[in-house]
Amino acid sequence: MNKPYRIVMLGKQGAGKGTQSSKLAATLGIAHISTGDMLRAAAREGTEFGKLAQGYMDKGELVPDSVILGAVEERLSRRDCAEDGFVLDGFPRNLAQAEALDKMLEPEGIKLVINLDVSTEVVMDRLSSRRVCTGCGRTYSVHHPPASNWTCDDCGSEVVQRADDTPEAIGRRLAIYEEATAPLIAWYQAKGCFVTVSGEGDFDAIFEEILATVERF
Ligand code: ADP
Ligand code: ZN
Repeated sequence: MNKPYRIVMLGKQGAGKGTQSSKLAATLGIAHISTGDMLRAAAREGTEFGKLAQGYMDKGELVPDSVILGAVEERLSRRDCAEDGFVLDGFPRNLAQAEALDKMLEPEGIKLVINLDVSTEVVMDRLSSRRVCTGCGRTYSVHHPPASNWTCDDCGSEVVQRADDTPEAIGRRLAIYEEATAPLIAWYQAKGCFVTVSGEGDFDAIFEEILATVERF
C-alpha cells in the first residue's frame, strides 16, 4: 500500500484492536484514530461532546451517530490524515457510520479493512481482566499489572478498570457488536478490501501478520 494509508481495524471489543492499531500506526508513521479514546478524553475534559457521550459509554451503548460523525470527519480532514493516512480503531461501528465514512473519503474510500478475529470466550476473559491507564490509555490486565501499585509504567497515572468492563456492560457491548457491527464484515467483503487476521495467540506474531497484510495491499 502507498500513502495515504487508509485502514480500518474491525473486531469485537477486546480483540486487541487498540494495541495492534496503535503499533501499526506508529510503525507506518500515520495517525491512530480511536473513537473510544477520543470520547473518553472528551469526557475527562468535560467538553459538551464528552458530556453527551459519557452516559452511553458507561452503559456500554453506542454513542449516537449524530454525536460521533462530526468529530470523526473533522479529525480525518486534518492534514496528517489526508497526506499520510490513518488507522481507524472503533469506527465504523454500524452500517450508517460505514456509509458516512465512504462519503467523507470520496472518491477513493478505505483501502483495507483488517478484521481481527477472536472468539467470544476469549474476549470475555480479556475484557473482565483488563485494566486501563487513565492518563495515556495503555492497557494492562490483572495477570500483567504495572510494575508498581497500579500506576502506569509509561506515564505514572492511575490504572483502573473501565466502567464498561463490568460483566453487564460487557454483555451489552458484545450484543451490540453482533447486531450493529458484525454486518460490516459482509459489507466490506463485498467491496473486496477485506482481510481477516486471527487475533488469538502471540501479540508479535499477530502484528507481523497485520503488517504483511498491509504490505501486500
Ligand atoms: P470497546 O470497543 O472495547 O467497546 P472503545 O474504546 O472502542 O471500546 O469504545 C468505548 C465506547 O465508546 C463504546 O462502548 C461506545 O459507547 C463509544 N464509541 C466508541 N466508538 C464509537 C462509535 N464509532 N460509535 C458510537 N459509539 C462509539
Ligand atoms: Zn499511562
